[in-house]
Amino acid sequence: MSKIKVMSEALANKIAAGEVVEKISSVVKELCENSIDAHAKNIVVTLIDGGLKLIEVLDDGDGMDKNDAHLAFGRHATSKLLRDDDLFFIDTLGFRGEALPSIASVSRVILKTCSDTLGTLLEIKGGKVVKEEDADARKGTSITVQDLFYNTPARLKYLKSEASELAGCVSLIERLALSHDNIAFTLTNNDKVLVRTTGSGNLHKCIHEIYGLNVSSKMLEIRASNDDFDLYGYVCKPEILKSNRNHFITMVNDRIVKNFDINRAINDAYYTYKPDTKYPIVVLKVNTDPTLIDVNIHPTKQDIKLSKINELYDLIYNTIKEALYKSLLIPDAIKKPEYNEIKDHYVENFVREVEKSSDEYKESSQVALDLSYESEKESPVILNEDLKKLVLYPVGVALGTYIIAQNEEGVYLIDQHAAQERVNYERYLKALKESITSTIGLLFPITIELASSEFLIVKDNLDVLLNMGFLVEEFGVNTFVFKEHPTWLKSGYEEESIHKIVDILIKNNGKFDRVKFNEHIAITLACKMSIKANMHIGLDAVEELLNELVLCDNPYNCPHGRPTIIKFSLYDLERMFKRVMN
Ligand code: ZN
Ligand code: ZN
Repeated sequence: MSKIKVMSEALANKIAAGEVVEKISSVVKELCENSIDAHAKNIVVTLIDGGLKLIEVLDDGDGMDKNDAHLAFGRHATSKLLRDDDLFFIDTLGFRGEALPSIASVSRVILKTCSDTLGTLLEIKGGKVVKEEDADARKGTSITVQDLFYNTPARLKYLKSEASELAGCVSLIERLALSHDNIAFTLTNNDKVLVRTTGSGNLHKCIHEIYGLNVSSKMLEIRASNDDFDLYGYVCKPEILKSNRNHFITMVNDRIVKNFDINRAINDAYYTYKPDTKYPIVVLKVNTDPTLIDVNIHPTKQDIKLSKINELYDLIYNTIKEALYKSLLIPDAIKKPEYNEIKDHYVENFVREVEKSSDEYKESSQVALDLSYESEKESPVILNEDLKKLVLYPVGVALGTYIIAQNEEGVYLIDQHAAQERVNYERYLKALKESITSTIGLLFPITIELASSEFLIVKDNLDVLLNMGFLVEEFGVNTFVFKEHPTWLKSGYEEESIHKIVDILIKNNGKFDRVKFNEHIAITLACKMSIKANMHIGLDAVEELLNELVLCDNPYNCPHGRPTIIKFSLYDLERMFKRVMN
């Protein structure tokens, strides 16, 4: 029986047509997703000139018989959606049916496919079958797309340059490979291997194959569940951040998605672990009951809507935060060389042999990859609790700014401002969260005169200041008098601190959010009250600062996300001085 069914007209109309083929990568995506749905274990994508000249996708999936092959290029053919209801329970990759005919109508396509003992070859030009013959009985499907948009020059000119089309394809295949770590993907352009995974079914290994050792050795595994969601994946330590969000790879029920709230949960979890303008590498798999997913049914969109998104936000946020909290995150000062050898290795060993059985081809490449992966040395996991017992012995201060410290594991450099800023920040934040505050009277009350608009804002929000432990009253025209303040204000800086807090109160007017207000005050005061670069501090003060730093929840970053501490491990030092080889 034919595997491909023809959709009812009503269902077909629910699918927004067109726009399926807009970029090289959208063609590659459609073809690869067909391969995935056909249960392929190996998918080889071959491009010539970034796909502008040729795109070929070869798989070892189920393949099609002659009848299916013809149907695949008909309108609204689909192998998976049979009833209207199915649209709302899509837990496959989405749906195609539209895609192949669209692609075939604007290019020259050669399809070779075989599901059983006899293969079929179809050549289609501008949507019409121009050649049909029997082909080899190699199980699976290969589709070659040549001269995309040859008959629609207006659309051709919208294709971007070879390099940017290629970058789109690399990013696509990396995402597909990460979301299907049990499928071996290969992407080549002009015979150069750009992506190669082994389909080992091991997500960490897949990350290693795509990003290399530098990244894979700095990923933290996360795993968590609640009533509705299961979470699994890897998040990077803050030392290998990227400058955009392209490396947030998120999947819901094995489908790559882009969801604002999921991205926000990831980014928020790294709050103060990174600067605002940097983003982590995260590979996250969410599994849930399909009834909680409202799939946006436009075929090219990856966005989805989820019921219970707040529960998912909390689960992602808390799980990543905990993973960061539990890990020792002091970055090594000496970066290991980029691990490109593995990619070069691929190039040497990779022979694009379409005819060769893909199992054999996989085995031979697997050996090389396994060796590389096993040779990766996992550093022992040191928990944050151990760090809190960590002793850093001060040696001195270099350049008036960097504390030098040591212990049996190596030498550390600590930015004195960033370190103290972190200590003060956590102290202020804790004090601001306390409901009962001890206060202290001012011998000389502090008066603050404001512009009348500002005066009104402060007057409206006076309870905020009172709750913080200030005794403050109106005092004549546009003026307040402060008679008591909470004890955590740094002595000698009371007036400056009060001015800062009043400023922040005025700036926050209208969209008052207690948590953000506290954050803002804590960061501002912490920066102001901390020792600056080039300010001299004695060794006693240094020792005290180091002891306070290791006790912080996040001792690794200042509240702006800059690093506080970097490490030269004993091994790195010995290697640099050639006391040890390799
Ligand atoms: Zn600062
Ligand atoms: Zn800072």
